[in-house]
Amino acid sequence: MDFSMTKHDDDNNATWTKIVVSKTDYRNIMWTDLLKIAEDNWKWVQTQPFPNTAQGSCLVAALFLPSISGGVIFLSTIPRGSKHTEMMNGDRAAPAWFGATTGGTGHNTGLKLHAEDGAEFLFETSRHARGIVRNSQYITPDRNNEHSRMQLAVWGRHRNSPLQGESIALCTVGEKQPKCPAVARTLNIAYCEQYKVRFEEENR
Ligand SMILES: [Zn+2]
Repeated sequence: MDFSMTKHDDDNNATWTKIVVSKTDYRNIMWTDLLKIAEDNWKWVQTQPFPNTAQGSCLVAALFLPSISGGVIFLSTIPRGSKHTEMMNGDRAAPAWFGATTGGTGHNTGLKLHAEDGAEFLFETSRHARGIVRNSQYITPDRNNEHSRMQLAVWGRHRNSPLQGESIALCTVGEKQPKCPAVARTLNIAYCEQYKVRFEEENR
């Protein structure tokens, strides 16, 4: 498997993104499998120059879109450089995400961008968003089944994390408002939580 990602900008401004199609997982995906994909790509990013932010963080967010022609996974690191600028001005490019992450204000004043935002922006600006973004939410075809919503998980490392990285709960650090879990709920995205991973591990 190739876990390389596309780099935007160089050195301290680098952001990495990638869109992958999974033929095996299409209706929903195990949280542990989504985390593994984030982890594998995060490991690759770690081999690149300047993977960490000034705060010593490197995260890869993975956003899964169920699709009968193969599940699509949108991956992003913490937005920096031109990707950060593009997203700060992303009200027209990704209106649902922009509305949610600005708490409905539509103003980017003081807006903090996390890796989760990067994955959501990547999805909403892709061709895969067509027909899915409705009424400012991400509505998958099987919308009456809560288990086939889009799914979001994050792997990586903050300053105090173990070297090999870890599953990162949404918004464990930082003073982002609204926080990533609230943004995900507004957009109708299910997100990884420790108890969900435990439940999977106990019910293999
Ligand atoms: Zn966050």
